[in-house]
Amino acid sequence: MTLTKIHPAATRALRRSLGPRVVRTDLAARDQASFDSSKIAFLPEAVAFPRSREDLAALLVLANRFRVPVTVRGRGTSLTGSAAPVRGGWVVDLGGWKGIRLEPEAGLIHAQAGATIASVQKAADAAGWFYPPDPSSKEYCTVGGTIACNAGGMHGGKYGVTRDYVLALEGFLPNGDYVEWGTPTKKFSAGFNLRDLWIGSEGMLGIITGATLKLIPRPPVRWTALAAFRSEAAAFRAVLELFRARVQPAICEFLDRYSVLCAERATGATLFPGLSGRPLLLIELAGSAGEVREQKRAVTAWARSRAAAFRVARSRSEAEALWAVRRKCSGAMFELGDSKLNEDVVLPMRSYLAFARLLESLRRESGLSIPTFGHLGDGNVHVNIMYHRSDPAQCRAAQKAVKRLMSGVVELGGAISGEHGIGLAKTPFLRMQHRPAQIRAMQQVKKALDPRGILNPGKMFEVFRVWEHPRLEVHLPWDHK
Ligand SMILES: Cc1cc2nc3c(=O)[nH]c(=O)nc-3n(C[C@H](O)[C@H](O)[C@H](O)COP(=O)(O)OP(=O)(O)OC[C@H]3O[C@@H](n4cnc5c(N)ncnc54)[C@H](O)[C@@H]3O)c2cc1C
Repeated sequence: MTLTKIHPAATRALRRSLGPRVVRTDLAARDQASFDSSKIAFLPEAVAFPRSREDLAALLVLANRFRVPVTVRGRGTSLTGSAAPVRGGWVVDLGGWKGIRLEPEAGLIHAQAGATIASVQKAADAAGWFYPPDPSSKEYCTVGGTIACNAGGMHGGKYGVTRDYVLALEGFLPNGDYVEWGTPTKKFSAGFNLRDLWIGSEGMLGIITGATLKLIPRPPVRWTALAAFRSEAAAFRAVLELFRARVQPAICEFLDRYSVLCAERATGATLFPGLSGRPLLLIELAGSAGEVREQKRAVTAWARSRAAAFRVARSRSEAEALWAVRRKCSGAMFELGDSKLNEDVVLPMRSYLAFARLLESLRRESGLSIPTFGHLGDGNVHVNIMYHRSDPAQCRAAQKAVKRLMSGVVELGGAISGEHGIGLAKTPFLRMQHRPAQIRAMQQVKKALDPRGILNPGKMFEVFRVWEHPRLEVHLPWDHK
């Protein structure tokens, strides 16, 4: 763990201003705030648990006066190192800001930055509403963190991602000024849209303290089915066919044969007896009874002509049994290597088949296991490069494979990240995605809003060599989910 430049006078001033209960400097608190789910760690000098907007404003004013880096933290579930305080300084933990207020008639929810996505969904559901962005980490990750990363999930293809549900934001500019972007209305056309600039800015352009989120009516009917295919290419082709038939599944989850085999070994169950280890598509339809009935017919006809085998869940518990394979596969992959590069690339539909070929060539060239699953409704695929950390040849092969994956995805017209963001881990690839002029424009925005480089410095634009940094050996509650 690295400790960069220290600011003892600034930290003393902060403790004097906010008090020792708000600003902790003990090793236990600093240690907890030093890493996220990437397990890349940098020790901060202090961790602040602000009680109010006044606390936050005072902290930012001091940070600017003494030039102390400030990294905001939701719950630290980020997989890219974006919440790790790479330049030390102070961490601001907003995990305690959990307030939620529902406006049932308007279909809106006002949430403080530290509320978890599960708590937002639960409050919405109790009133017959639905908040669709659903990262698998939803029991833990926060409203602020998911907005800062523009998080997605399995429902992205039909319902979109976090950005599509943020109506208004409130929070602080890096200099400590309080701002509100937008109003709790569905239309807003008054001035530059800085709300959208904050979404996906990974805590580098402002601190979000609260958000107004849009809800949609909860779909009354759900229908779940699972289809097995002869090959990955056959599954990809079938997805294209499904969308050509104008079916819009709420979820269209793909698992390649390697992911399926891991899950089957972990559960000891095969969903299609005699067809173990076949690529799968898990399809979920959602909507009104009429809508689901019509789409169900189309999916059944599609499966008859395209799939090697097909099963429909007749109850919620049967649906859960089909889901088990998807839920288990990620953790089960650790039988293939003790370490995983979990990438979240995005492909345009027209490149699905070329992507299947790219994956095969990556496997051949690297000699590594690369189980892959993902959300084919929006082309967001999780490519898991498995390797053993103690084996230098495997580490080199994994490094090479991830670079080749990223360049291949960009060549196919895709994106190096669909939901996790850049943080530290993906900084070497930003230049593959963006032209120099585009990166310069982003840096100019950062400079305009944060001239002293206070908020989350060292991220996104500076190349971080993740392989040269040891990872912490810690177990987090959400590991292997
Ligand atoms: C098991 C697991 C499953 C996951 N599944 C998914 C998935 O399906 N889809 C998906 O999109 N992601 C997924 N993730 C990644 C992760 O959960 C998301 O990136 C999430 O958005 C991070 O939320 P957090 O509250 O933990 O934020 P943190 O990790 O604490 O912070 C993430 C970034 O947001 C910034 N930030 C946090 N709070 C604020 C704030 N209030 N104001 C400004 N900036 C802020 C931080 O500075 C940092 O840059 C998964 C992670 C794990 C561990």
